[in-house]
Amino acid sequence: MRLFPVLLAVAFCRAQTPSELSSDPTVRAALEAARRNEPATLELQARLCEIPAPPFQETLRGRELQRLFQQLGLRNVRIDAAGNVIGVRPGKAARPNLVFAAHLDTVFPEGTNVKVTRDGNLLKAPGIGDDSRGLAVMLAVIRALDEGHVETPGAITFVANVGEEGLGDLRGMKSLFFDSLKGQIDRFVSVDGTGLGITHIGIGSNRYKVTFKGPGGHSFGSFGMANPIQAMGRAIAKIDAFEVPARPKTTFNVGRVGGGTSINAIPFEAWMEVDMRSSDPAALKDLDTRFNAAIRQAVAEENARWDNRGPVSASAELVGVRPAGQTPKESPIVQTAVAVSRALSIEEVLREGSTEASTDSNVPMNLKIPAITISGGGSGSGAHSLNETFDATDSWRGTQRALLLAIALAR
Ligand SMILES: [Zn+2]
Repeated sequence: MRLFPVLLAVAFCRAQTPSELSSDPTVRAALEAARRNEPATLELQARLCEIPAPPFQETLRGRELQRLFQQLGLRNVRIDAAGNVIGVRPGKAARPNLVFAAHLDTVFPEGTNVKVTRDGNLLKAPGIGDDSRGLAVMLAVIRALDEGHVETPGAITFVANVGEEGLGDLRGMKSLFFDSLKGQIDRFVSVDGTGLGITHIGIGSNRYKVTFKGPGGHSFGSFGMANPIQAMGRAIAKIDAFEVPARPKTTFNVGRVGGGTSINAIPFEAWMEVDMRSSDPAALKDLDTRFNAAIRQAVAEENARWDNRGPVSASAELVGVRPAGQTPKESPIVQTAVAVSRALSIEEVLREGSTEASTDSNVPMNLKIPAITISGGGSGSGAHSLNETFDATDSWRGTQRALLLAIALAR
């Protein structure tokens, strides 16, 4: 390990005196501990994966994280109203306060077989990478900091959070930033999934379920009545014609439709589910406005077409909101993460396509609090599927990178 260039790069990047880190043998000891402890980290990763954590049912796994935080000597270990497990590793001062997080929840429903099978370096189970890896890395970072006796100028608050996946809708982060740690977070890093990428662009999304309703009737006898499915068809055609910016990438999709009772009945109800995304809050807002206008126009046109005979109405229910945002590439937190990675011979961390995603960092990014999401090392496949695997070859590099980044940002 070439520690000197590591520390120089970090110190240079954050405009700090090189002596701050480079004269500190504790950092070296912690990095060595992270590598040495990797087999135990992998065992922990497998054990956490086997504690089910379906969406909205993270309690069991959360309690285990609470126990581990306490065992590792974190202070003020607690569970907030949303279910986030929070513990503090104090620094010489309370600020800056770095929040270092990984998510508890999986996408898998209750009853999913989460037993881990292992064949050499290959671990297999739903959730083994996303985000059992992040949780295990976070715990390994705490342990390594302690074994190296690292003292940081600022505090590190570790969080095992709820609600990252799907309709969890980042509720763990929303609770953290708007309630339990409101105004107390200076920087944010989450460890999510596998590989060595850095995500600094947060894709926001608005998701709707739109329901079209009318009186319905016989297809022959009541002919001439406005039709909810046909109104929805008009709406879908309008949505399909939306022009959206290619950069920042902005997207829309009608993902599911349903409704109707019979081939020979004018339906009384139809529904569709629509997902819209962008990393640019303004582009997403604009798309959202056009979407809602399209629904209103479609309904008006359908009613006008049939002389308001049994008029149709529509209501759009917002079923998911993930705020968009980004931490600029040039910002100190991104540049520190790049420098820390390079110093550990981890290159190409900002590869095109891997820098944008929807993660827990969306919430702080939207609040303009410096935030990134890093991957936890190793390599994975099949995230969100029952065939998820984690390849632990050289996974200690991910643990070391997370550790050094935590040290570099807690100052
Ligand atoms: Zn994840």
